[in-house]
Amino acid sequence: MHTPSPSRYSDSSIYKRCGRSGLKLSRLSLGLWHNFGDNVFFENARTLVLHAFDKGITHFDLANNYGPPPGSAETNFGRILREELAAHRDELIISTKAGYLMWDGPYGEWGGRKYMLASLDQSLKRLGLDYVDIFYSHRFDPETPLEETMGALAHAVRSGKALYAGLSNYNPDQTARAAAILRDLGTPCLIHQPKYHMYERTPEHGLLDVLAREGIGCIPFCPLAQGLLTDRYLNGIPADSRAAHDPRFLKPEDITEAKLAQLRALNEMAKARGQSLAQLALAWVLRQPVVTTALIGASKTKQIDDNLGALKNTDFSDAEIASIDKILAS
Ligand code: NDP
Repeated sequence: MHTPSPSRYSDSSIYKRCGRSGLKLSRLSLGLWHNFGDNVFFENARTLVLHAFDKGITHFDLANNYGPPPGSAETNFGRILREELAAHRDELIISTKAGYLMWDGPYGEWGGRKYMLASLDQSLKRLGLDYVDIFYSHRFDPETPLEETMGALAHAVRSGKALYAGLSNYNPDQTARAAAILRDLGTPCLIHQPKYHMYERTPEHGLLDVLAREGIGCIPFCPLAQGLLTDRYLNGIPADSRAAHDPRFLKPEDITEAKLAQLRALNEMAKARGQSLAQLALAWVLRQPVVTTALIGASKTKQIDDNLGALKNTDFSDAEIASIDKILAS
Protein backbone atom coordinates (compact mmCIF):
# COMPACT_ATOMS: atom_id res chain seq x y z
CA MET A 1 0.00 0.00 0.00
CA HIS A 2 1.33 3.41 -0.98
CA THR A 3 2.04 6.03 1.68
CA PRO A 4 1.19 9.27 -0.09
CA SER A 5 3.20 12.44 0.33
CA PRO A 6 1.84 14.38 3.33
CA SER A 7 2.37 17.63 1.40
CA ARG A 8 0.21 16.64 -1.59
CA TYR A 9 -2.48 19.21 -0.77
CA SER A 10 -0.15 21.97 0.39
CA ASP A 11 -0.90 24.17 -2.64
CA SER A 12 -4.66 24.72 -2.63
CA SER A 13 -4.38 27.05 -5.63
CA ILE A 14 -4.09 24.05 -7.95
CA TYR A 15 -7.80 23.19 -7.49
CA LYS A 16 -10.57 24.89 -9.45
CA ARG A 17 -14.33 24.56 -9.31
CA CYS A 18 -15.77 22.68 -12.27
CA GLY A 19 -18.38 24.94 -13.88
CA ARG A 20 -21.24 25.74 -11.49
CA SER A 21 -20.90 22.43 -9.63
CA GLY A 22 -19.79 21.54 -6.12
CA LEU A 23 -16.73 19.69 -7.42
CA LYS A 24 -13.20 21.05 -7.54
CA LEU A 25 -10.62 19.44 -9.82
CA SER A 26 -6.85 19.65 -9.88
CA ARG A 27 -5.86 21.98 -12.72
CA LEU A 28 -3.98 19.11 -14.34
CA SER A 29 -5.66 15.75 -14.77
CA LEU A 30 -3.84 12.57 -15.82
CA GLY A 31 -5.24 10.67 -18.80
CA LEU A 32 -4.63 6.95 -19.27
CA TRP A 33 -5.21 6.67 -23.04
CA HIS A 34 -1.51 5.91 -23.72
CA ASN A 35 1.14 4.36 -21.44
CA PHE A 36 -1.29 2.34 -19.26
CA GLY A 37 -2.29 -0.60 -21.48
CA ASP A 38 -0.89 -4.12 -21.55
CA ASN A 39 1.57 -2.96 -24.22
CA VAL A 40 3.72 -1.13 -21.66
CA PHE A 41 5.68 -1.97 -18.51
CA PHE A 42 3.14 -2.07 -15.65
CA GLU A 43 5.59 -0.73 -13.05
CA ASN A 44 5.93 2.51 -15.02
CA ALA A 45 2.15 2.93 -15.04
CA ARG A 46 2.10 2.42 -11.28
CA THR A 47 4.90 4.95 -10.77
CA LEU A 48 3.13 7.58 -12.91
CA VAL A 49 -0.20 7.30 -11.06
CA LEU A 50 1.39 7.41 -7.60
CA HIS A 51 3.67 10.29 -8.56
CA ALA A 52 0.73 12.31 -9.87
CA PHE A 53 -1.28 11.63 -6.70
CA ASP A 54 1.69 12.64 -4.51
CA LYS A 55 1.84 15.94 -6.38
CA GLY A 56 -1.82 16.76 -5.72
CA ILE A 57 -3.37 15.50 -8.98
CA THR A 58 -6.68 14.01 -7.91
CA HIS A 59 -8.33 13.36 -11.28
CA PHE A 60 -7.62 10.31 -13.44
CA ASP A 61 -9.34 9.95 -16.78
CA LEU A 62 -10.14 6.63 -18.47
CA ALA A 63 -12.48 5.18 -21.08
CA ASN A 64 -13.77 1.69 -21.72
CA ASN A 65 -11.54 1.32 -24.79
CA TYR A 66 -8.18 2.61 -23.46
CA GLY A 67 -5.34 0.10 -23.77
CA PRO A 68 -4.34 -1.61 -25.97
CA PRO A 69 -6.03 -4.02 -25.77
CA PRO A 70 -9.29 -2.13 -25.06
CA GLY A 71 -10.14 -2.35 -21.36
CA SER A 72 -6.59 -2.98 -20.19
CA ALA A 73 -5.99 0.59 -18.97
CA GLU A 74 -9.00 0.22 -16.65
CA THR A 75 -7.80 -3.19 -15.48
CA ASN A 76 -4.29 -1.88 -14.80
CA PHE A 77 -5.58 1.24 -13.04
CA GLY A 78 -7.91 -0.98 -10.99
CA ARG A 79 -4.89 -3.00 -9.87
CA ILE A 80 -3.01 0.17 -8.85
CA LEU A 81 -6.05 1.32 -6.87
CA ARG A 82 -6.40 -2.03 -5.14
CA GLU A 83 -2.71 -2.50 -4.35
CA GLU A 84 -1.74 1.10 -3.57
CA LEU A 85 -4.60 3.55 -3.13
CA ALA A 86 -7.52 1.60 -1.69
CA ALA A 87 -7.45 3.74 1.45
CA HIS A 88 -7.70 6.93 -0.62
CA ARG A 89 -10.73 6.30 -2.84
CA ASP A 90 -12.53 9.31 -1.41
CA GLU A 91 -9.65 11.57 -2.46
CA LEU A 92 -9.84 10.48 -6.10
CA ILE A 93 -11.94 11.57 -9.05
CA ILE A 94 -12.06 8.67 -11.50
CA SER A 95 -13.70 9.11 -14.88
CA THR A 96 -14.67 6.68 -17.60
CA LYS A 97 -16.54 6.87 -20.89
CA ALA A 98 -18.57 4.84 -23.35
CA GLY A 99 -19.17 5.62 -27.01
CA TYR A 100 -16.49 4.01 -29.16
CA LEU A 101 -16.34 0.38 -30.30
CA MET A 102 -15.93 -1.98 -27.38
CA TRP A 103 -17.46 -5.30 -28.36
CA ASP A 104 -18.96 -7.04 -31.41
CA GLY A 105 -22.58 -6.81 -32.49
CA PRO A 106 -25.15 -4.01 -32.59
CA TYR A 107 -24.81 -3.10 -28.87
CA GLY A 108 -21.05 -2.56 -28.66
CA GLU A 109 -20.66 1.17 -29.44
CA TRP A 110 -22.38 4.60 -29.80
CA GLY A 111 -25.04 5.95 -27.43
CA GLY A 112 -27.89 3.48 -26.98
CA ARG A 113 -29.04 2.76 -23.43
CA LYS A 114 -28.16 -0.93 -23.61
CA TYR A 115 -24.56 -0.26 -24.67
CA MET A 116 -23.98 2.68 -22.33
CA LEU A 117 -25.16 0.93 -19.17
CA ALA A 118 -23.60 -2.45 -20.00
CA SER A 119 -20.32 -0.68 -20.73
CA LEU A 120 -20.40 1.15 -17.39
CA ASP A 121 -20.94 -2.16 -15.57
CA GLN A 122 -17.98 -3.66 -17.43
CA SER A 123 -15.81 -0.64 -16.59
CA LEU A 124 -16.70 -0.87 -12.90
CA LYS A 125 -15.77 -4.55 -12.91
CA ARG A 126 -12.39 -3.88 -14.56
CA LEU A 127 -11.69 -0.99 -12.17
CA GLY A 128 -12.87 -2.96 -9.14
CA LEU A 129 -15.09 -0.05 -8.08
CA ASP A 130 -18.71 0.42 -7.00
CA TYR A 131 -18.94 3.77 -8.76
CA VAL A 132 -16.98 6.16 -10.95
CA ASP A 133 -17.02 9.87 -10.26
CA ILE A 134 -17.73 10.97 -13.83
CA PHE A 135 -19.38 8.91 -16.58
CA TYR A 136 -19.19 10.37 -20.09
CA SER A 137 -20.90 9.90 -23.39
CA HIS A 138 -17.66 9.68 -25.41
CA ARG A 139 -19.24 10.86 -28.68
CA PHE A 140 -22.55 12.07 -30.06
CA ASP A 141 -24.62 9.29 -31.67
CA PRO A 142 -26.45 10.59 -34.76
CA GLU A 143 -28.85 7.60 -34.82
CA THR A 144 -29.96 7.38 -31.20
CA PRO A 145 -32.34 9.98 -29.74
CA LEU A 146 -30.32 12.32 -27.55
CA GLU A 147 -32.95 11.79 -24.82
CA GLU A 148 -31.98 8.10 -24.71
CA THR A 149 -28.22 8.71 -24.41
CA MET A 150 -28.75 11.40 -21.76
CA GLY A 151 -31.29 9.16 -20.05
CA ALA A 152 -28.62 6.48 -19.76
CA LEU A 153 -26.19 8.98 -18.17
CA ALA A 154 -28.89 10.18 -15.78
CA HIS A 155 -29.75 6.59 -14.87
CA ALA A 156 -26.08 5.88 -14.16
CA VAL A 157 -26.03 8.81 -11.75
CA ARG A 158 -29.36 7.98 -10.08
CA SER A 159 -28.35 4.33 -9.62
CA GLY A 160 -25.19 5.46 -7.80
CA LYS A 161 -22.81 3.97 -10.36
CA ALA A 162 -21.60 7.46 -11.30
CA LEU A 163 -21.64 10.73 -9.36
CA TYR A 164 -21.70 13.10 -12.34
CA ALA A 165 -22.45 13.06 -16.07
CA GLY A 166 -20.09 14.35 -18.78
CA LEU A 167 -19.96 14.86 -22.54
CA SER A 168 -17.07 14.47 -24.92
CA ASN A 169 -16.65 15.46 -28.56
CA TYR A 170 -20.15 17.03 -28.79
CA ASN A 171 -20.43 20.17 -30.93
CA PRO A 172 -21.96 23.40 -29.51
CA ASP A 173 -25.52 22.66 -30.63
CA GLN A 174 -25.41 19.03 -29.46
CA THR A 175 -23.93 20.20 -26.16
CA ALA A 176 -26.64 22.81 -25.56
CA ARG A 177 -29.39 20.28 -26.31
CA ALA A 178 -27.78 17.58 -24.16
CA ALA A 179 -27.28 20.02 -21.28
CA ALA A 180 -30.97 20.99 -21.36
CA ILE A 181 -32.07 17.35 -21.26
CA LEU A 182 -29.69 16.50 -18.41
CA ARG A 183 -30.86 19.51 -16.43
CA ASP A 184 -34.51 18.45 -16.89
CA LEU A 185 -33.59 14.98 -15.69
CA GLY A 186 -32.10 16.47 -12.50
CA THR A 187 -28.57 15.35 -13.31
CA PRO A 188 -26.85 18.44 -14.76
CA CYS A 189 -23.87 18.07 -17.06
CA LEU A 190 -20.70 18.57 -15.01
CA ILE A 191 -18.01 18.73 -17.66
CA HIS A 192 -17.23 18.65 -21.35
CA GLN A 193 -14.11 17.06 -22.85
CA PRO A 194 -13.14 18.51 -26.25
CA LYS A 195 -9.87 18.34 -28.16
CA TYR A 196 -8.32 21.77 -27.64
CA HIS A 197 -4.75 22.93 -28.13
CA MET A 198 -2.84 25.57 -30.10
CA TYR A 199 -3.31 23.63 -33.34
CA GLU A 200 -6.96 22.66 -32.69
CA ARG A 201 -9.07 25.76 -32.17
CA THR A 202 -12.56 24.40 -32.96
CA PRO A 203 -13.83 24.88 -29.36
CA GLU A 204 -13.26 28.63 -29.74
CA HIS A 205 -16.03 28.72 -32.35
CA GLY A 206 -19.04 28.34 -30.08
CA LEU A 207 -18.32 25.51 -27.68
CA LEU A 208 -16.51 27.51 -24.98
CA ASP A 209 -19.36 30.04 -25.00
CA VAL A 210 -22.00 27.32 -24.57
CA LEU A 211 -20.04 25.83 -21.67
CA ALA A 212 -19.69 29.21 -19.95
CA ARG A 213 -23.40 29.91 -20.39
CA GLU A 214 -24.46 26.48 -19.13
CA GLY A 215 -22.03 26.46 -16.19
CA ILE A 216 -20.27 23.35 -17.50
CA GLY A 217 -16.54 22.92 -16.86
CA CYS A 218 -14.16 22.30 -19.74
CA ILE A 219 -11.38 19.70 -19.70
CA PRO A 220 -9.40 19.95 -22.94
CA PHE A 221 -7.82 16.68 -24.05
CA CYS A 222 -4.44 16.42 -25.82
CA PRO A 223 -3.48 19.95 -24.70
CA LEU A 224 0.09 19.17 -25.80
CA ALA A 225 -1.04 17.84 -29.20
CA GLN A 226 0.18 14.39 -28.08
CA GLY A 227 3.66 15.72 -27.32
CA LEU A 228 4.14 17.95 -30.34
CA LEU A 229 3.79 21.09 -28.20
CA THR A 230 6.75 20.11 -26.02
CA ASP A 231 10.49 19.87 -26.54
CA ARG A 232 10.07 16.16 -27.42
CA TYR A 233 10.51 16.46 -31.18
CA LEU A 234 12.58 19.65 -31.54
CA ASN A 235 15.71 17.68 -32.37
CA GLY A 236 14.36 14.59 -34.12
CA ILE A 237 12.12 11.70 -33.06
CA PRO A 238 13.41 10.01 -29.88
CA ALA A 239 13.10 6.20 -29.85
CA ASP A 240 11.04 6.21 -26.62
CA SER A 241 8.51 8.78 -27.90
CA ARG A 242 4.91 8.19 -28.91
CA ALA A 243 5.57 9.06 -32.56
CA ALA A 244 8.33 6.41 -32.67
CA HIS A 245 6.78 3.50 -30.78
CA ASP A 246 3.01 4.00 -31.17
CA PRO A 247 2.40 5.92 -34.39
CA ARG A 248 -1.34 5.11 -34.52
CA PHE A 249 -2.31 8.70 -33.79
CA LEU A 250 0.80 10.92 -33.83
CA LYS A 251 2.47 10.08 -37.12
CA PRO A 252 6.16 10.85 -37.73
CA GLU A 253 5.25 12.29 -41.14
CA ASP A 254 3.06 14.93 -39.43
CA ILE A 255 6.14 16.39 -37.73
CA THR A 256 7.13 18.50 -40.72
CA GLU A 257 9.91 21.06 -41.05
CA ALA A 258 7.27 23.81 -41.23
CA LYS A 259 5.75 22.65 -37.95
CA LEU A 260 9.17 22.37 -36.34
CA ALA A 261 9.92 25.97 -37.31
CA GLN A 262 6.73 27.05 -35.51
CA LEU A 263 7.55 24.89 -32.49
CA ARG A 264 11.04 26.40 -32.26
CA ALA A 265 9.56 29.90 -32.35
CA LEU A 266 7.04 28.96 -29.65
CA ASN A 267 9.89 27.47 -27.65
CA GLU A 268 11.76 30.79 -27.77
CA MET A 269 8.62 32.55 -26.58
CA ALA A 270 8.25 30.05 -23.74
CA LYS A 271 11.85 30.70 -22.69
CA ALA A 272 11.20 34.45 -22.62
CA ARG A 273 8.32 33.76 -20.18
CA GLY A 274 10.56 31.50 -18.09
CA GLN A 275 8.57 28.43 -19.16
CA SER A 276 9.17 25.22 -21.06
CA LEU A 277 7.24 24.77 -24.32
CA ALA A 278 4.92 22.26 -22.58
CA GLN A 279 4.25 24.78 -19.80
CA LEU A 280 3.45 27.48 -22.36
CA ALA A 281 1.01 25.19 -24.19
CA LEU A 282 -0.73 24.17 -20.96
CA ALA A 283 -0.93 27.74 -19.65
CA TRP A 284 -2.43 28.74 -22.99
CA VAL A 285 -5.45 26.42 -22.55
CA LEU A 286 -5.72 27.01 -18.80
CA ARG A 287 -5.97 30.78 -19.31
CA GLN A 288 -9.53 30.37 -20.60
CA PRO A 289 -11.86 31.03 -17.64
CA VAL A 290 -14.15 28.14 -18.61
CA VAL A 291 -11.27 25.62 -18.60
CA THR A 292 -11.23 23.80 -15.26
CA THR A 293 -8.33 21.43 -15.86
CA ALA A 294 -6.04 20.33 -18.69
CA LEU A 295 -6.05 16.59 -19.41
CA ILE A 296 -2.44 15.57 -19.99
CA GLY A 297 -0.76 12.30 -20.80
CA ALA A 298 2.71 11.33 -19.60
CA SER A 299 5.25 8.56 -20.08
CA LYS A 300 7.70 9.80 -17.44
CA THR A 301 7.34 11.36 -13.99
CA LYS A 302 9.58 14.27 -14.97
CA GLN A 303 6.97 15.25 -17.59
CA ILE A 304 4.31 15.47 -14.87
CA ASP A 305 6.63 17.70 -12.81
CA ASP A 306 7.40 19.90 -15.78
CA ASN A 307 3.69 20.21 -16.60
CA LEU A 308 2.74 21.15 -13.03
CA GLY A 309 5.16 24.06 -13.38
CA ALA A 310 2.71 25.58 -15.88
CA LEU A 311 0.36 26.44 -13.02
CA LYS A 312 2.77 29.10 -11.76
CA ASN A 313 1.87 31.42 -14.64
CA THR A 314 -1.29 31.04 -16.71
CA ASP A 315 -1.66 34.76 -17.53
CA PHE A 316 -0.91 36.14 -20.98
CA SER A 317 -0.77 39.71 -22.27
CA ASP A 318 -2.71 40.53 -25.42
CA ALA A 319 0.63 41.00 -27.18
CA GLU A 320 1.74 37.49 -26.20
CA ILE A 321 -1.50 35.95 -27.47
CA ALA A 322 -1.11 37.86 -30.72
CA SER A 323 2.50 36.65 -31.07
CA ILE A 324 1.41 33.05 -30.59
CA ASP A 325 -1.30 33.43 -33.23
CA LYS A 326 1.24 34.96 -35.59
CA ILE A 327 3.65 32.06 -35.11
CA LEU A 328 0.85 29.52 -35.65
CA ALA A 329 -0.21 31.30 -38.85
CA SER A 330 3.35 31.48 -40.22
P1 NDP B 1 -1.03 15.26 -24.38
O1 NDP B 1 -1.34 16.16 -25.51
O2 NDP B 1 -0.79 15.84 -23.03
O3 NDP B 1 0.24 14.38 -24.81
C1 NDP B 1 0.90 13.56 -23.86
C2 NDP B 1 2.26 13.16 -24.37
O4 NDP B 1 3.09 14.30 -24.51
C3 NDP B 1 2.98 12.27 -23.37
O5 NDP B 1 2.64 10.92 -23.52
C4 NDP B 1 4.43 12.57 -23.69
O6 NDP B 1 4.81 11.89 -24.88
C5 NDP B 1 4.40 14.02 -24.05
N1 NDP B 1 4.66 14.90 -22.91
C6 NDP B 1 3.83 15.21 -21.88
N2 NDP B 1 4.38 16.12 -21.06
C7 NDP B 1 5.60 16.40 -21.58
C8 NDP B 1 6.64 17.27 -21.19
N3 NDP B 1 6.53 18.06 -20.12
N4 NDP B 1 7.77 17.32 -21.94
C9 NDP B 1 7.90 16.54 -23.05
N5 NDP B 1 6.93 15.69 -23.47
C10 NDP B 1 5.79 15.63 -22.75
O7 NDP B 1 -2.20 14.26 -24.17
P2 NDP B 1 -2.62 12.79 -24.68
O8 NDP B 1 -2.60 12.74 -26.15
O9 NDP B 1 -1.80 11.79 -23.93
O10 NDP B 1 -4.11 12.73 -24.16
C11 NDP B 1 -4.36 13.00 -22.79
C12 NDP B 1 -5.62 12.37 -22.34
O11 NDP B 1 -6.74 12.95 -23.00
C13 NDP B 1 -5.77 10.89 -22.65
O12 NDP B 1 -5.01 10.08 -21.80
C14 NDP B 1 -7.25 10.71 -22.48
O13 NDP B 1 -7.54 10.61 -21.10
C15 NDP B 1 -7.79 12.00 -23.05
N6 NDP B 1 -8.27 11.84 -24.42
C16 NDP B 1 -9.62 11.90 -24.65
C17 NDP B 1 -10.15 11.72 -25.90
C18 NDP B 1 -11.62 11.82 -26.10
O14 NDP B 1 -12.11 11.51 -27.20
N7 NDP B 1 -12.36 12.22 -25.10
C19 NDP B 1 -9.27 11.45 -27.06
C20 NDP B 1 -7.87 11.46 -26.75
C21 NDP B 1 -7.40 11.66 -25.47
P3 NDP B 1 5.75 10.59 -24.90
O15 NDP B 1 4.81 9.47 -24.61
O16 NDP B 1 6.28 10.58 -26.28
O17 NDP B 1 6.77 10.76 -23.82
